[in-house]
Amino acid sequence: MKTLNDFNFNNKKALIRVDFNVPLNDNFEVTDATRIQSAKPTIIKILEDGGSCILMSHLGRPKGAQDEFSLRHIVKKVEEIVGVEVKFANNCIGEEAEIAASNLEPGQILLLENLRFHEEEKKGDENFAKQLANLGDIYVNDAFGTAHRAHASTTIVAQFFPENKCFGRLLAKEIESIDKVMQSGEKPVLAVLGGAKVSSKITIIENILDKIDHLIVGGGMTFTFIKAQGGQIGDSICEDDKMELALDILKQAKAKNVEVHLPVDVIAADAFSNDANTQIVDVDAIPDGWQGLDSGPRSKELFDTVVNSCKTILWNGPLGVFELDSFAKGTIALGDAIAEATNNGAFSLVGGGDSVAAVKQFGFQDKVSYVSTGGGAMLESLEGKTLPGIAAILS
Ligand code: AMP
Repeated sequence: MKTLNDFNFNNKKALIRVDFNVPLNDNFEVTDATRIQSAKPTIIKILEDGGSCILMSHLGRPKGAQDEFSLRHIVKKVEEIVGVEVKFANNCIGEEAEIAASNLEPGQILLLENLRFHEEEKKGDENFAKQLANLGDIYVNDAFGTAHRAHASTTIVAQFFPENKCFGRLLAKEIESIDKVMQSGEKPVLAVLGGAKVSSKITIIENILDKIDHLIVGGGMTFTFIKAQGGQIGDSICEDDKMELALDILKQAKAKNVEVHLPVDVIAADAFSNDANTQIVDVDAIPDGWQGLDSGPRSKELFDTVVNSCKTILWNGPLGVFELDSFAKGTIALGDAIAEATNNGAFSLVGGGDSVAAVKQFGFQDKVSYVSTGGGAMLESLEGKTLPGIAAILS
């Protein structure tokens, strides 16, 4: 696996695919700069080597060149974070980009306009990728968030740098973290899978059963498993057509010596609302008219023990409707337990969609070992898929 350490960037122009797809407010100010911060170590290493950086990214889902999606809006923020002046090219290909790139001196940074202003980007167009490739000497992919897409700047461009391509710091860290769980995790290995539906997590569950010792199933998924086993789930969310599958997963887990832990009690509510009436009931005895929206106190005790007995922990998906305060306790308690296990030496990886939002909302991001920056890319990695952006660097 080639990383930045395999290159000396002195007098070289690094063409870096970053993920600067950041949220902007109505005044076009960056409201969460995490993704820019995450790219900083790569940029700094290249500048310190005596190289220059040509940054390329997409922003949002523009239809053609729409000013509201211009990366010009984030130039000041990048300057503030990296501490170096950032030049800007109004187009990512063509004469302006070519002149700006060829005039770039060691120590300087050039940010190219939104790649998705050209439809060729998402189509993975080879000619467009070649025009991008012509701008730099070494291709660096540091955009995990788009590594599952075979777009021109994330995948196709790599073929024009047969020897001179590598992973940036962020992407290397993502790959290492996933490997730490999926390949070389210290045992016992635990996966916590929550969220709304079995159907969206099924491929992950099937892929990780060979790699784990314990599986905690939480969130809305719980009720498909409980009903399949004959429990009363009241009005809780359930995918009736996935009950067979749930039983099959339990069978597979048993055959593979994976211990499956489901909540034993839940906070049941008489409406999907913060102000609903609630009661704590056994997970398999939820009255009609009530729905389980969070895991209960006895489940917390059980999950605490499991989490604290494990050395490697993967967490994807909340244990309840954490967006509503009344049903966030189970998810917060799990975060606390994972933070404690991490403090005691376990490796913990949080990734994929809503679990990252939950971790940030409750301030756990510095208390776990790694929080992935890629939603879809992380889910596809956990499903065992080879991401095209990663494969393109390895080939
Ligand atoms: P996912 O994107 O599959 O990880 O699902 C996350 C969503 O699952 C969140 O928006 C949660 O509100 C929702 N969720 C978690 N637990 C439940 C539950 N018991 N009932 C309904 N939705 C839930």
